[in-house]
Amino acid sequence: MRAALLSECHRPLELVERDEPELRGTRDVVVRIGGAGVCATDLHAIDGLMEPAGVRSPVVLGHENAGWVHAVGDDVTAASVGDAVLVYPAWSCGLCVPCRRGHEMFCERHRFTGLSCDGGFADFVLVDERSLVPLPAGVEPAAVAPHADAGITAYHAVKKLLPRLVPGSTSVVLGVGGVGHIALQLLRALGGGAVIAVDTDERRRGLARELAADEVLADAADVREATNGAGADVVLDFVATDATHAAGMEMLARRGLYSTVGYGGMLSVPSVALVVGESTVVGNLVGTWIDLWELLQLHGRGDVRLVTQTHPLEDVNTVLDALRAGDVTGRAVLVP
Ligand SMILES: [Zn+2]
Ligand SMILES: [Zn+2]
Repeated sequence: MRAALLSECHRPLELVERDEPELRGTRDVVVRIGGAGVCATDLHAIDGLMEPAGVRSPVVLGHENAGWVHAVGDDVTAASVGDAVLVYPAWSCGLCVPCRRGHEMFCERHRFTGLSCDGGFADFVLVDERSLVPLPAGVEPAAVAPHADAGITAYHAVKKLLPRLVPGSTSVVLGVGGVGHIALQLLRALGGGAVIAVDTDERRRGLARELAADEVLADAADVREATNGAGADVVLDFVATDATHAAGMEMLARRGLYSTVGYGGMLSVPSVALVVGESTVVGNLVGTWIDLWELLQLHGRGDVRLVTQTHPLEDVNTVLDALRAGDVTGRAVLVP
């Protein structure tokens, strides 16, 4: 099969021919890839920033995978050959305390498809049956692949904030990219307050208008004026540079909550500002299997639209370059 391999950090991915993955355990499943979303985390992995998360080259990237079940181990009961499935990217044992608390991201035996083990920038990927989420009839894998990471990350972050999203509240989405454009819709669908979208790129501001943001701004510094001086009750940061971290904290209302979904920058804030404002700062790490399942229900109901553009697997490096340059609107999906 074909696979796009990260053989060394700081280099383009290498398209290689390798053997199809083989079932090793009795609950293993081989999925034939229908689509694999391309994420900023892939760039972070190429840049060597993901080593603390267990990323070791060589590895096949691709953690937003959907496709059809191709082969199943002897004890698999959750799926049959031919089923259309989304692949929840985190491997989890189901037995440890974090798993039993429903925090699969913190499984003591944690692995992550497409980062710490081979992923879906390939014809086939090997996963555990616990990873599979069946697709509703009529849903094409390539159309929903980015929900496996971009989608659940947005859903997980927004779901935690629901008690704050009361009528009269204001939320801000910093960055209307692959994850931000989903969060914007979830804030509208699940919350009762107003949503302000901020993006420096006119194409992404256009997308935010299409997705019915209450207000769309080019400059984060304008949020305070747009809220009559009160500031934002909730800020979700999908850009996560030093500049957006600072701007996000600066625009918070009293008792506001700043939540970072993106990562990469340094958050620095005077403690007096936290105390005076009784501010809350939180981080978000992907989401759980049930987050993905719930998000699919919303998708099936038409409450969330995933904006995607598909490209052949062979174009993986061109697509990664475009993502790095900020030239992707919505999510790019590789189709083998
Ligand atoms: Zn990702
Ligand atoms: Zn576990």
